[in-house]
This record gives sequence, C-alpha cells and structure tokens, in this order.
Amino acid sequence: MSRLIVISGPSGCGKTTIAREILQRHAEILFAVSATTRPKRSYEMNGKDYFFLTKNEFEQKIRLNELVEWEQIYGEYYGSLKSEIDRAFEEGRSLLLDVDVKGALSIKTKYPSDSILIFIKPPSMEILRSRLMNRKTETTEALNRRLERVTMEMERSKEFNFSIINDDLAQAVDNVDRIINRAMETAV
Ligand code: ADP
Ligand code: 5GP
Repeated sequence: MSRLIVISGPSGCGKTTIAREILQRHAEILFAVSATTRPKRSYEMNGKDYFFLTKNEFEQKIRLNELVEWEQIYGEYYGSLKSEIDRAFEEGRSLLLDVDVKGALSIKTKYPSDSILIFIKPPSMEILRSRLMNRKTETTEALNRRLERVTMEMERSKEFNFSIINDDLAQAVDNVDRIINRAMETAV
C-alpha cells in the first residue's frame, strides 16, 4: 500500500539531505519531484530535483488542475504534481515529498489516512543560519527572507505527526527511517 511520507521544516533544516539518505536506504520509495519557478542551483538537475518552470508554465499547470497543492514561497511558485502521486498509487509504492509546512498540511487534509507528516527541526536558529550561509545558495536578502518564515513554520509543526531534531545527521536519518519503517509496517 502506498504511503505519502511528507518531510517539511524551515529552509536549511536538512530536509533535502535527509531525504537523499532515506531514498538511498529505500529503493522502493519514490521521490515526488515538485514543480517550481525558482532558479535552479548548480548541483540540481531538472526533472530529478525539481521541474524548473517559467511563471507562465506554472500558472498553466494551476489552470489545468495538475497540482495537488501549490504555494507561493519566498516570491516563487512551488507545487506538488498530481501525476507524481498518481504514479506512486498506481505502482503501490510509497512516495517521499519535500514540501513547505502549508503544503504538508494540505496533503494531510487531502490524504488523511495515507499521509504521514514529519517535521525537521534545526537545533537552534544560530545553527540554522550558519547552515544556510555555508550552503552558499542564497544572497543575504534571500537568506533573511527564508529565516523570516521560521517562527510561523515552528508554530505549525504542532500539527505534524512527528518532529525530529536534525543535530547529528546520522541520528536524525535513523530517527526518520524508524518512523517510516513503522508507518510502512502498519500500511497493509
Ligand atoms: P533544506 O533542504 O531543509 O533547505 P539542506 O538539506 O539543503 O536543507 O541542508 C542545508 C545545509 O545544511 C546543507 O549544506 C547541508 O549539507 C547541511 N546539513 C544538513 N544537515 C546537517 C547536519 N545534521 N549537520 C551539519 N550540517 C547539515
Ligand atoms: P528550496 O527553494 O529550498 O528548494 O525550497 C523552498 C521551500 O519550498 C521548502 O520549504 C520546500 O520544502 C518547499 N517546497 C518544495 N517543493 C514544494 C511543493 O511542491 N509544494 C510546496 N508547498 N512546497 C514545496
């Protein structure tokens, strides 16, 4: 049976890093490639990390009802494609989604019994800031815009099924892995 495993949390908390490790451990789990209008980072691949679209292309997907949910975040569009979720359900496989808190809660509302929401917390604001700075993908302005959202995001973490602190990476991955294994065991 398919499960929608939704990973969320503030920018820089380690969602992408943890998701990558989980997918390495679980060849049976698919990754939901989202659509976005934000510029591609040097290490990202179109169609693998995201489908990088123009604003017009994204807005057409909204009009054609091709998105399960979408949000405007940091001035860009981000959305989960219905086709990714349909494919997982058709193949009877679980799907890992990396989406913002509002998107995660929309998925929970649409798929209450199939979704499991995991919130990744940074050990502190200082560490979050330094991880984002070290990643070197944002300008100072963009970085500050990402940090401005953290209070709202932490507040909404209460609505998630699980919260994990990403301090030691290996431990955080183990904790997320344990949650996923338990969810898949009960999904029969
Ligand atoms: P997100 O996808 O949530 O924005 P990333 O996975 O890109 O976050 O992680 C942000 C940065 O922090 C990356 O440079 C990543 O290598 C680093 N990072 C992630 N987890 C840890 C950790 N537990 N300890 C130290 N650095 C980490
Ligand atoms: P980034 O630009 O760092 O890749 O992602 C910024 C934010 O957008 C993160 O919180 C990420 O989880 C979120 N995001 C990525 N894809 C989607 C999506 O399909 N829908 C929603 N709602 N958020 C997404």
